[in-house]
Amino acid sequence: MSESAFSKLSLAEPLARAVAEMGYEQMTPIQAQAIPVVLTGKDVMGAAQTGTGKTAAFSLPLLQRMLKHENASTSPARHPVRALVLLPTRELADQVAQQVKLYAKYTNLRSAVVFGGMDMKPQTAELKRGVEVLVATPGRLLDHIEAKNAVLNQVEYVVLDEADRMLDIGFLPDLQRILSYLPKQRTTLLFSATFSPEIKRLANSYLQDPVTIEVSKPNATASTVEQHFFSVTDDDKRRAIKQIVRQRGITQAFVFVNSKLGCARLARTLEREGLKTTALHGDKSQDERLKSLDAFKKGEVDLLVATDVAARGLDIKDVPAVFNFDVPFNPEDYVHRIGRTGRAGASGLAVTLVAPGDQRLMADLEKLLKRKVEIEPMEFDDERPRGRINDGRRAWRERDEEEDRRGSYEERRRESRPASAPKDPFFDQPYEAPEREAAASWDANTKPAGGRVSSNIKPKRKLAALFKANTPA
Ligand code: AMP
Repeated sequence: MSESAFSKLSLAEPLARAVAEMGYEQMTPIQAQAIPVVLTGKDVMGAAQTGTGKTAAFSLPLLQRMLKHENASTSPARHPVRALVLLPTRELADQVAQQVKLYAKYTNLRSAVVFGGMDMKPQTAELKRGVEVLVATPGRLLDHIEAKNAVLNQVEYVVLDEADRMLDIGFLPDLQRILSYLPKQRTTLLFSATFSPEIKRLANSYLQDPVTIEVSKPNATASTVEQHFFSVTDDDKRRAIKQIVRQRGITQAFVFVNSKLGCARLARTLEREGLKTTALHGDKSQDERLKSLDAFKKGEVDLLVATDVAARGLDIKDVPAVFNFDVPFNPEDYVHRIGRTGRAGASGLAVTLVAPGDQRLMADLEKLLKRKVEIEPMEFDDERPRGRINDGRRAWRERDEEEDRRGSYEERRRESRPASAPKDPFFDQPYEAPEREAAASWDANTKPAGGRVSSNIKPKRKLAALFKANTPA
């Protein structure tokens, strides 16, 4: 039996059954390291992103330790909140809550999720019935605490998941308030993709003698990823993507851009040009984001155009190719971006389109990669004239596109994260190709269909920005 087999863990029977039902046999690296430590009740500081299996890494040992409180009583008093899992966005909270429910399904432990942008009433009713595991975004949890719907004085475990993102969004004051309501005697687990000085300060203040878990070297880019850098003008970037996709027979790809504005416009243009495309950025409503994601996962769209912040933390394990339409502002984002492709021995393709003004960003990237990058000329198959607009409007269009590409200063500042190193690329998981009726029809003019939305998320109102929805006023 392999060292990292789940059966090595002696999980309680109801948990082992749930794990077996999920089809997991081997633990992922973060699970193999974190589960035994969490089972001892120690604090943990874990370097891991979504997609590494970290939800099970903290949920399974927490559930195991809480089994001693398990009871079938209908009295709410017998089901106080004992574990609190905090996440930055509704999407992530929902993903984690769904997993916790599956792991706990053969136990009498109850779980619930609360996040903003939804009616408080059904959440209140669930909280009042009593839940042992509460998954929440900070803003909405504070609303429930203030309304006395959530009492946290019996919490034994708290998980600060995606901690760097919570700080990026400005949740620090909310986190501090929430943590002040919790008993001092507790286990605290902090997971973060990066360990910036702010994260270290947070850990120093709230974790006691934590065990640090880091599953792979910082800034490692998967060796199975074939990386290319092509020199192109801004006008030729879309053409370059289309040509590479066609030549390589790529079925699905992520296209990364640096700004929200650029993201929406590029997706619209690609769609107009006949590629089945969807966009994912922070200005989309939660409902729209989930639909985009679902359409991509189901293979209804071929290209997902995304900003770094919007793409982070998504449960999409692997795609055949990643295009960097823009050279990222933060070189660390290059590692995150191309980490979406080329896993588990499968070869992935990462193409970065380098425009004439990108020298400084390329120099930053070379410094991080510790090697000189070869920039290849892009040779186009067809040499037909490129720009259709050849009058006074062209100058206007070029300015507009330049602005798209660069993003405003404010947008760049908001969307770029502190320059610190990612610790843990996603664990090896083969690409799960969606079932497709036909091969990718890059030239077909098909509209993306709407997708299924998680049953937990029934937004009451459209939000200007998901992040803003959770940010305290
Ligand atoms: P997470 O990083 O927790 O969001 O997990 C990413 C995905 O990996 C989820 O869809 C899990 O269901 C799946 N997963 C977690 N642990 C394992 C495992 N040991 N084996 C296979 N899949 C797993």
